[in-house]
Amino acid sequence: MIQQMKEELALKYGISSNIIELYNQAIEDIKDKFEALDEIREFNQLKVLNAMQEERISECHFTNSSGYGYGDMGRDSLDKVYARIFNCEAALVRPHFVNGTHALGAALFGNLRPGDTMISVCGKPYDTLHSVIGIDGDERIGSLKEFGVLYKQIELKEDGKPDIQAIKKMIAGDTTIKLVHIQRSTGYGWRRALSINDIKEIVDCVKSIRNNIICFVDNCYGEFIDILEPTDIGADLVAGSLIKNIGGGIAPTGGYIAGTKECVEQSSYRLTVPGIGGECGSTFGVMRSMYQGLFFAPHVAIEALKGAIFCARIMELAGFEVLPRFDEDRSDIIQAIKFNDKEKLIKFCQGIQLGSPIDSFVSCEPWNMPGYADQVIMAAGAFVQGSSIELSADAPIREPYIAYLQGGLTFDHAKIGVLIALNKILNNNQ
Ligand SMILES: *Cc1c(COP(=O)(O)O)cnc(C)c1O
Repeated sequence: MIQQMKEELALKYGISSNIIELYNQAIEDIKDKFEALDEIREFNQLKVLNAMQEERISECHFTNSSGYGYGDMGRDSLDKVYARIFNCEAALVRPHFVNGTHALGAALFGNLRPGDTMISVCGKPYDTLHSVIGIDGDERIGSLKEFGVLYKQIELKEDGKPDIQAIKKMIAGDTTIKLVHIQRSTGYGWRRALSINDIKEIVDCVKSIRNNIICFVDNCYGEFIDILEPTDIGADLVAGSLIKNIGGGIAPTGGYIAGTKECVEQSSYRLTVPGIGGECGSTFGVMRSMYQGLFFAPHVAIEALKGAIFCARIMELAGFEVLPRFDEDRSDIIQAIKFNDKEKLIKFCQGIQLGSPIDSFVSCEPWNMPGYADQVIMAAGAFVQGSSIELSADAPIREPYIAYLQGGLTFDHAKIGVLIALNKILNNNQ
């Protein structure tokens, strides 16, 4: 780090030399991890470029549509571009999905029928899906449970890997099982993300028993972290958010679903209504951002990944337990840091907010966020509200007080943000 940078950080944020020493050590420790990441990024950039060229994307795809939005070329071609990237038959990419949960929910409601059973093979799914499935709380809000869809769950093994034996046994013994839900990313849990190989093991196991069971992957935070996506290794259906990896920080909102023609079409009837599906929906002039974001996404996802690795190392050097560790393989952009202390957790998130380009002058506090059972604190000083491909940190306020850091449109910003957050905990002078 150059002298001017150190002086500026000291002047503006009171960052002391002991933190700069940790920084130097962390950078030294992680730098030989980066070559492999750059190669993944390079390959995925080519993948995106090829898909856009093959669909002959042109200025005319960026124009607006109104009303019903029939024949919106930009929208329909973006579906095809995504389908190429995911190496699958079809995709549904829409600004009308209000978030990732909405896309995941449409996929589940679209493909499950009364009397069917869905099983989650990674323990409890992501918090906001509990109301969708009807796991706990009031299921009489039109949850899957209220519509007669049954739910079962298999925990991950001690070592964080899928329990293939238990999956085999459950599927063999229950012919009502129609869909297997696989969550790639950690969510608000203390576990590793599932690698593409882990997902392949699950898919192979499921398909070897009954080929017509839908293997559905919650792919949030996983896009472009590997050279393969779950659909490359046999998953039937994936879904995710456009204000995470695949929107590249440029898409202003939205979600996507990709997979087999049948599964995507069924999902489309829950995006809109049966019979209309994906053929309606005007796009309000956002298509250019959705294409451009996708073009940036392989780069931005790897910037965020480098930020997570840096965070893992420096927080560990500062004495905190982290998951994953800096030198472990990754399959999402999430970095979990265990504080065992409510105040430190809140200070860390406030530090990330303080180091944000937007709303740096406000202090974030825990609040009752819709869809979550515990209070949640969210630092997201982002250009796009709540965007977590931008540098952000969030946490449910519950023991053992784990913060989840993710994003960073640039690695540089991620480093600066983490330094400010760490300083807030160690020196508490801002
Ligand atoms: C972010 C996320 C979701 C969806 O969350 P939204 O805030 O609705 O986009 C679902 N599953 C996982 C694992 C996630 O990380």
